[in-house]
Amino acid sequence: MLSKKIEKALNKQINHEFHTTYNYLAISAWFASRNLPGFAHWMNIQSAEERTHALKFIGFVVDRGGRVELEAVGKPASDFRSAKDAIAAALKLEQATTALINALFALAVEEKDYATQSALKWFVDEQVEEEKSVGEVLGKLEMAGDSKGTLLMLDHQAAKRGKS
Ligand code: MG
Repeated sequence: MLSKKIEKALNKQINHEFHTTYNYLAISAWFASRNLPGFAHWMNIQSAEERTHALKFIGFVVDRGGRVELEAVGKPASDFRSAKDAIAAALKLEQATTALINALFALAVEEKDYATQSALKWFVDEQVEEEKSVGEVLGKLEMAGDSKGTLLMLDHQAAKRGKS
């Protein structure tokens, strides 16, 4: 059984994962509207991943006999000054996710909930990967600076995500 505290925190995490998938979808649409289909594709995959995270948490709550309570998802930002700013917003979200997962883990330790700690381990590792991959894209966009040619080259590269 899940303690009420853990159940509440897991539901909060589910909402955050949906908040993230929704934000990434908005970022993807922004890229598409700026004629950067590669980045749009990249962010669309990123958005889909967040949905699988939400579903993973939902499954875990159900498996543990808890109650899933979906909340309203906030309106995402839909306008950005540049490709770099759009990806910087994504990195900020990943960092927020990491902080939430860490807080959830700390709560599971406090509550002596070993099953939740075990399930969260996957997410702890996943966040290392997420921050690395988004950070890498941001780093490249920072290197590109104002070079439109480099931006188009990076867009072309981003289009290949999940295709090799
Ligand atoms: Mg996630």
